[in-house]
Amino acid sequence: METIFEKIIAGNIPANKVYEDEQTFAFLDGEPVNPGHTLVISRKPYKDIYEIPQADFLAVMKTVHKLAPIIKQAVEADGINLHNNNDPAAGQRVPHYHIHIIPRFENDGFQHWQGSEDYHEGEHGKEIARSITDFLK
Ligand code: AMP
Repeated sequence: METIFEKIIAGNIPANKVYEDEQTFAFLDGEPVNPGHTLVISRKPYKDIYEIPQADFLAVMKTVHKLAPIIKQAVEADGINLHNNNDPAAGQRVPHYHIHIIPRFENDGFQHWQGSEDYHEGEHGKEIARSITDFLK
């Protein structure tokens, strides 16, 4: 099924486009955290970080790298968050790969998540790291 972002790329749904090239497209988020909140998407409708090929992912990141400092300057932000959700459990609502560029302002009230449990001294952190590195072998 066609995603809403494919309709935006095709021009069938209006959007405030800020940039496009052969592999990527960028436009203002319709429900911005702050003014200038921009979505950078792959032109091809890959769903998420697991599906997008490395070349397309790198193209998205290249556009993010180009736009982030420009957006910061344009809206006179104090900082920038880069954000990407994968799977509904992580907050993904549109199944078309995208990175959020979110301008931040001192005291804008937008909260970082709170870390809950650290690994303390014991083995737990080592076990988690091992379970990840085992998959890299
Ligand atoms: P995510 O939760 O990471 O999938 O983010 C999807 C984002 O797409 C949300 O921040 C929405 O505000 C944004 N969005 C959805 N539909 C539109 C639209 N038609 N125009 C602009 N932004 C949109």
